[in-house]
Amino acid sequence: MERRSFIKKSSISGLAIALAPSLALAANKDFEYSILELMGKADIELYGKDINLRAEAHDAFVEMKKAAYGDGIDLKVVSSYRNFGRQEAIFERKFERYTEEDGMEPMAAIDKIIEYSTIPGTSRHHWGTDVDIIDGYPKAEGDVLVPSKFGAGGPYENFKKWMDENSKTFDFHLVYTDDSKRKGFKYEPWHYSFAPLSVPMLTEFRRKNILQLLEKETFLGSEHFTNGFIRTYIQNNILDINKELL
Ligand SMILES: [Zn+2]
Repeated sequence: MERRSFIKKSSISGLAIALAPSLALAANKDFEYSILELMGKADIELYGKDINLRAEAHDAFVEMKKAAYGDGIDLKVVSSYRNFGRQEAIFERKFERYTEEDGMEPMAAIDKIIEYSTIPGTSRHHWGTDVDIIDGYPKAEGDVLVPSKFGAGGPYENFKKWMDENSKTFDFHLVYTDDSKRKGFKYEPWHYSFAPLSVPMLTEFRRKNILQLLEKETFLGSEHFTNGFIRTYIQNNILDINKELL
């Protein structure tokens, strides 16, 4: 985009110079993100070893990491881009464990899975804009992505304070906030989203009829999805997030 704008600016004169780049951007808007891209089924370009985000999100993350470093915090990526197949494997493994090992009814198992994990095709991690982050400095035992570790006395308490104060400066926003009125996914103090890309991506995703897209998918457990279930899931788990990201 940058380069194209530059070429236009240098080759066209008068009013066209001012109008052309923004018109081109508006015309491209509808085609910016495909269904395959939004559902984690396209090969997208990712940047940064151990970062794996889209270019703009990567650059902002690197800037944020530098700033945090200066304050004694080592921003470490636990998980960022995840494709459809990876999310499908996570979902199916949990479904199998809950129904076969724990003897849960299929719908009860699915409800438990979607406390923290998404239905494949609907993960924000498919977008290359969202990232689970911890502080690499403190030692932590066991699972790192546990809310209590980010609270008072936890190893990531300082990380959380720093992010509360600074992440928005770099356009990273918490997605699943600690708000008792919020439905859908539980509080995830580690999951941040790069708003300049993820807000238009969510808008685009909503316009694609997510219900119809999900009805076409078949994976372990998906035969139990009803229309009502998917509607509620979209409302609660995809859309009931931090308002700054809508
Ligand atoms: Zn996450």
